[in-house]
Order: sequence, then C-alpha cells, then structure tokens
Amino acid sequence: MQLYNTLAKRVQAFEPAENRTVGMYVCGPTVYDHLHIGNVRPVIVFSALRKYMERFKGWRVVYVQNVTDVDDKLIRRAAETGESVDAIAKTYTDAYFSLLERLGVERPSASPRATDHVGEMVEFISLLVDRGYAYERCGDVYFRVAKVADYGALSGRRLEDQQAGSRVEVGEDKENPLDFTLWKAAKPGEPDWPSPWGRGRPGWHTECVIMSRKYLGAHLDIHAGGNDLVFPHHENEIAQAAASSDAPFFRFWLHNGMLHMGGEEMHKSLGNFRYAHEILAEYGAETVGYFYLSRHYRKPLDYSADGLRAAQAAVGRVRRLIEDIESELRDAPGEATERGRAFAGTIAGYRARYVAAMDDDFNTVDAIAAIHDLVSEANRFRAAAAGDDRLALRDAVLLLRELGEPLGLFQEESATGGSSIEAGLVDLLIDLRRELRSRKAFDLADRVRDQLADLGVELKDTAHGTLWSRR
Ligand SMILES: [Zn+2]
Repeated sequence: MQLYNTLAKRVQAFEPAENRTVGMYVCGPTVYDHLHIGNVRPVIVFSALRKYMERFKGWRVVYVQNVTDVDDKLIRRAAETGESVDAIAKTYTDAYFSLLERLGVERPSASPRATDHVGEMVEFISLLVDRGYAYERCGDVYFRVAKVADYGALSGRRLEDQQAGSRVEVGEDKENPLDFTLWKAAKPGEPDWPSPWGRGRPGWHTECVIMSRKYLGAHLDIHAGGNDLVFPHHENEIAQAAASSDAPFFRFWLHNGMLHMGGEEMHKSLGNFRYAHEILAEYGAETVGYFYLSRHYRKPLDYSADGLRAAQAAVGRVRRLIEDIESELRDAPGEATERGRAFAGTIAGYRARYVAAMDDDFNTVDAIAAIHDLVSEANRFRAAAAGDDRLALRDAVLLLRELGEPLGLFQEESATGGSSIEAGLVDLLIDLRRELRSRKAFDLADRVRDQLADLGVELKDTAHGTLWSRR
C-alpha cells in the first residue's frame, strides 16, 4: 500500500513495522462542544482506512484516539456557562462517543483522556527540563525549540524564517517567541495539578506524545489528523519526542484536507460551520459517510446541501440494485450457469480496481467509481440475463457489500449498528418526551424513557439536551 507521508513530502510504500500490526494514532476531539462537520472528517477518513487495512490487507490495527479534556477552550466555556470544566468535558465526551455510534464508526481501541495522564506528563516535562530542552519561568514551562536541530522538518517551516517578525507576547517570559508551552501555571479557579513548578496544567502538545507511546508501544506506524495540526501541534510533538529519547517516533504522518463552506475554509470562529449531529439527523450516516469519502482525503472538501443530496442519490442507486436482487433471488434455488460464471469472473475485475485505488494513497474516489461501474455492469447483466443465469447476480451483491464495508456503505442495516431511520426515530421520541415533560405529562415521558431502555437505548439528560447511546 502507498500512502502520502507529510514527513517525507511524498507517497511512500507502507507496511506495518512489526508483526502485521499497525499502530495508528489520530488526534482526537477537545471536548468543549459538539463536533462540527470539519472535526468529523478525520474520524470518518481514518476509521475507513483502519477498516480497509483490517479487512483487505489482513493487518491488525491498534487505533488510538485521545480525548483532550483540559484546555483553554474548556476553561473559557466553563467561564461562559458557569458549569465546571469536568461537567463540560463529561457532557461532550459522551456526545462524542454517541456520535461515533451514530456514524456507524467503530470505537477506537483506546480513547485515553489527557486528565488521566497528568502525572506522566509532569514526569516527561521534568525529563525535558533535566536534558536542557525546557525551562521554567514564573510557574510556566517552555520548550526550547532552537535546541532541536531539525525543528520544522514536518511542516517545512525553517526556524530562521519564522524568527523574523515573531515577538514574545505580553505576559510571556520566553527566551524565544517560538518556544511553546509545556506546562501552564494555573490561575485561580482553573483546574490544576501539582508539579515541581507549582500547580498548573499540561499544554496540549505534550499529551499526544505520552499517550501515543503508552498505548502503541513499539507500533508507532501512523500518526494522523487534520492538516491544520501539522503546525504547530504535530511539529511540536516530534520535537518533544526527539528531545526525550533516541527511540524513533512515528514513521508516517497522514493529514486530511480542510472542510470548506461557501467558498471559505470552515472555522467555528468564522461562524460558517454546522454540527455533525445535525447533518447526520438530516441525511443519515451512510449518505454522510459517502459524501466525505467521495472526495480524496487530502483535498479540501466543499460542504453543500447539493453535495449531500448527490451522495444520497448515489447511495440510493447502489442500494436499489442490492434490494432488487435480494428480493428476486435471495432464496432462489439453482446451480450457477456458464454465463453466470463468466459474469462472476468479470465482476472480480472491479474488486481488483477497487483494491488498486485504495492501495494508491487511499483513493476512495476511484474506489467508489469502481463500485458504480460494477453496479452498471450488474444492471446490464440483469437486463439481458434470464433463468438460472440471473443467480450470479447474488455474487454482485456479496461483492458490493464487501467493497462497501470499509467505507460504511451498503451493509445490511443490522450490521451497520442501526439504520438512519432508527436513529431518526430515537431522536423523534426524545423530542416527544421533551414536549411531554414540558406539558407535565411525566408518566408518559417516563414511559418513553423506560421502553427505550427495554429496547437497549439509554437516554441521558444533560444541561445541553438529551443524549442517547446503545447499550
Ligand atoms: Zn494530538
């Protein structure tokens, strides 16, 4: 398999380093709000890559995605809402896991939380101070970037070029404006932990170094995330890893392109964004997944309702063929015919095309094109074939399901962890229950909750609405 490695700045052959096991670390959400449709792109893309590696390459994938549950954004949100940082982190961590479920995406092998690893981060930062790579100023600890010889290798930003025009911010006491924060002294009311430099909290760039090494051990194969993380986050991870140990850090760095909306890069701060759960409720997981994967992961993706409707139509075209064939032929008896065998041989070529595309830097665009050509081939055969020849169409259904699986497409609804109709029905019941409660019909509202619980759907009321998960 070939993958574009940001560190090498070219496509390179990828193989797991050891034991047919791929260790993959994908930077996870900062849990201060729901995920927006930009945040969800790496989730969909890299989960699909994981599944493809497992199903088609026969590799075992250990997939780690952290949860950043202490950060300036959480502290700001807490100040705005009057809630505790813990409560906010809990609400949006739950919301994130429930979103994964609704996307039909498998949970990570591990989802370590930053706050569970503060002690290890303090030890790590102490080591960097001892080695001369970090220094303390008034309770803050900074990383000394000038001490790392090839700082900037990932992003291609040379230290000398950046030096010009950068200044130390007011209130900071750094040796060099490019030095980044490893430890932040806590202000009153902020979450804090003890350290040799006084009470404070770790900076974001440190957690991913600690947790990736801890949960992947020797399998540091792929580190992934959005391309907005290349600098400074990933650059700073690499610098810390090099400063702390001679052991190699990740070999492959994969980055997805940004989401655009109305011709501009989507950013929460610009206000041009939508929440992922909103478009999921509108279009369902299969259409949303298709929409994301029908564009190459490294290119920018333009969000538009037209694009989603086109995805819906494309999914419908494949699904209709599958359903028609299944209803006609599911239990039909009979033996494969010569024409049928010839057809099975023809469609095997589409599987080869799909694999070649996926192996070529995870080109889901060409892989999906191969699926559509397979559908056209099957439609032609279906129109022309008669009698037992038609039985071979069942092979086309099996192949469509096999090729769709890594992409979360065209599965039997029970296998995808529930249909979009089911998710829509649960949302509808939650809405009705809220309405019942507002009309003080508490007995009916409780019945909705209890009967959903009997069906294995658990509701949880939070300050930001009701969340649900499958037990
Ligand atoms: Zn990270």
